[in-house]
Amino acid sequence: MSGMKSRASIQIKALVKKRDALAEKLRGFKHILRGTILKRGNICGKTGCRCKRKENPILHGPYQYLSHRSTKATNMIFLNKKKLYYAVRGIKEYDTAIGLIYRIAEINFKILRYHYTGLADE
Ligand SMILES: [Zn+2]
Repeated sequence: MSGMKSRASIQIKALVKKRDALAEKLRGFKHILRGTILKRGNICGKTGCRCKRKENPILHGPYQYLSHRSTKATNMIFLNKKKLYYAVRGIKEYDTAIGLIYRIAEINFKILRYHYTGLADE
C-alpha cells in the first residue's frame, strides 16, 4: 500500500515538473499574434488604370496582408518587409503557445484524473 502511494507521488512529481517546465516556456511568448498572412492583388485610385478594366483587369501586386478576424470584423494590415517579419514571428509564437497550452492542459487533466490525492503536494 505504501509502495503504491510512493510510486504515485513520484508520478505526480514528474508530471508537475514537466507541466511547470512547459508553463515556464510560455512566459517568453510576448509577440503572439493571431491572424493569417495572405496575398492579394490591389486596385489603385487612378482612373483608366488596367486594374479597373471591366474585362481582364490586371491587379497591382500581389501584396501580402495580415488578416485578423475578431468577433466584430475582419481587419487587414498591409505588410511591408518589416511588418511581414513581425507578423510571421508573431503567428509562429501563437502556434507554439497554443501547442504548449494543449500539452499543459493534457498533463493537468492527467493529474486531476489519477493523482488528485497528491494535489495538496504542489
Ligand atoms: Zn491601378
